[in-house]
Amino acid sequence: MWHMSSTPIIVVGAGIGGLTAALALLRRGIEVVLYEQAPQLGEIGAGVQISANGTRLLRALGLESALAQCAVRPQAKEIRHWKSGRSWRLFDLGVVSDARYGAPYIFIHRADLHRILASAVLALRPDTVRLGARCVGVDQDADGVTVHLADGRSVRGSLVIGADGVHSSVRACVFGAGRPTFTGCVAWRGVIAANRLGDGRLPLAGTNWIGPGRHVVHYPLRRGELLNFVGVVERSDWQIESWTAQGTRGECLADFAEWHEDVRNLIEAIDVPYKWALMTRSAMERWSKGRVTLLGDACHAALPFLAQGAAMAIEDAYLLGRCLAAYGVDHGTAFARYEAGRVARTSRVVRGSADNLGRFHNPRLADDLGADRYIAAEWSEAKVAERYEWLFTYDADSVEI
Ligand SMILES: Cc1cc2nc3c(=O)[nH]c(=O)nc-3n(C[C@H](O)[C@H](O)[C@H](O)COP(=O)(O)OP(=O)(O)OC[C@H]3O[C@@H](n4cnc5c(N)ncnc54)[C@H](O)[C@@H]3O)c2cc1C
Repeated sequence: MWHMSSTPIIVVGAGIGGLTAALALLRRGIEVVLYEQAPQLGEIGAGVQISANGTRLLRALGLESALAQCAVRPQAKEIRHWKSGRSWRLFDLGVVSDARYGAPYIFIHRADLHRILASAVLALRPDTVRLGARCVGVDQDADGVTVHLADGRSVRGSLVIGADGVHSSVRACVFGAGRPTFTGCVAWRGVIAANRLGDGRLPLAGTNWIGPGRHVVHYPLRRGELLNFVGVVERSDWQIESWTAQGTRGECLADFAEWHEDVRNLIEAIDVPYKWALMTRSAMERWSKGRVTLLGDACHAALPFLAQGAAMAIEDAYLLGRCLAAYGVDHGTAFARYEAGRVARTSRVVRGSADNLGRFHNPRLADDLGADRYIAAEWSEAKVAERYEWLFTYDADSVEI
């Protein structure tokens, strides 16, 4: 058993996965300290989607009412043709997600989710998060782990959870840096105030515009006051993998020059378009070494085409909390059970996300007639169920550990 007086577990990175892990551990009485490189917890990122497999865990962590105040519960998702604007229903989400999977599908601003998780963690232990603390090294011995920080300090923990995202320094220290491979795709990201779009009332649905060589996803945030825009284009002249690199509206418009005017109008209304080169990494067979393990993007970053990045980090964090609580100080077994529960599933998400790129950018979408046949074949109810059912039905709270 763990005791609150024992040396704490160190979590590196107070992003979505790190905060969820801290909350899951604190709620089970396990002491934890989070080290985050950012000088403050702020308004960063844009929209994220969380399907029932993630929201059921957030509910189990006591966050349901906080989420209900700012998340959008969409009614449906639709597909639209890049040129004609014609639409097809992809799946119903609102009532169907609750009825079928027992939890909602939500669209939420990453900053809102982040704030809700951080508040819940700080409410349990106000001194849990240490800001301005960038991890630059990790050493372990028989008794514990030392994390070295960029400002010269070193801190000691019983175990380390590397939740420091796609450019993880914990992964680099323990498993080697690895080399990302550029996919040949760049994603444009932006948030649009609804009052800049016509009468300001946004439909509570998500839309995937699909076309040859590019696609656009947009959906409402914050009760429909904002619209989240992501446009993915095949081009190779920008290879910086960053959540904060800015581009221009003109450049984004040029990437969607031939597209339907609804898409172009959205781009015109984006405040600041961000540019993000999409990379893949080779799968890691092991996530743990000795007293150190990884979660979230640090060990299985996926392309965003199944919209599961945040949900997978939440599932990892929740299951890791269960394993550490169940196996106590036997961290070897806890980490082994955690990996056994997570590696195959997250690898399937990484592969499924990459497969969706070919599906969204298919040349058969060039004209309306080809698109009709292609969509009937690829987005039939049976095909959609095959691609999504296994994702939404998984419950990290009840899988065997
Ligand atoms: C600034 C930012 C904006 C994002 N915006 C979006 C978005 O708009 N839409 C979307 O779908 N996804 C976004 N993401 C990614 C999304 O949050 C993740 O894909 C997903 O939630 C998985 O979460 P994670 O906890 O593994 O990683 P993240 O949520 O990325 O969290 C990693 C955390 O680790 C911290 N960190 C990194 N290196 C160190 C270090 N050496 N020492 C200490 N701390 C460190 C980071 O500052 C961050 O807080 C964003 C991520 C970031 C960091």
